[in-house]
Amino acid sequence: MRPVRCYACLHQFQVGPTAHTARCPACTKHLNLRDVVVRRPAMIGRVETCGRVIVARRASLHAQTLIAGGGIEVDGRCQADAVCHGPVRLTRRARWSGDCAAPSIVIEPGAVIERGRFQISAGRDAPTDPPSGAA
Ligand SMILES: [Zn+2]
Repeated sequence: MRPVRCYACLHQFQVGPTAHTARCPACTKHLNLRDVVVRRPAMIGRVETCGRVIVARRASLHAQTLIAGGGIEVDGRCQADAVCHGPVRLTRRARWSGDCAAPSIVIEPGAVIERGRFQISAGRDAPTDPPSGAA
């Protein structure tokens, strides 16, 4: 079993080691547990996962809402308003545009941040401020 945190209500519970989806026992939301890996230009309205969101080199992700329970790693371009319950990492090739709430962030020299309001809560409580319309 491994712990996951519901990205809708932040309830923490256990799932099987190979589960790809789960239903939150607290709010009954159907949850995606898989990592989302973006390898080409992609426009997605909502990206929601308990896993990680990875934007590969030369790929781009354009999302209105991005909720990543496990973390975000950007090696390409990401345009989204993101709520993340794990670490965010922007590599030296990353271009970021959008708001970001996360417990921690690493920004390598060379990364470009075009705009955004950042709320980094340094290992304290996970952000509880969902993007508008997330409820
Ligand atoms: Zn829930």
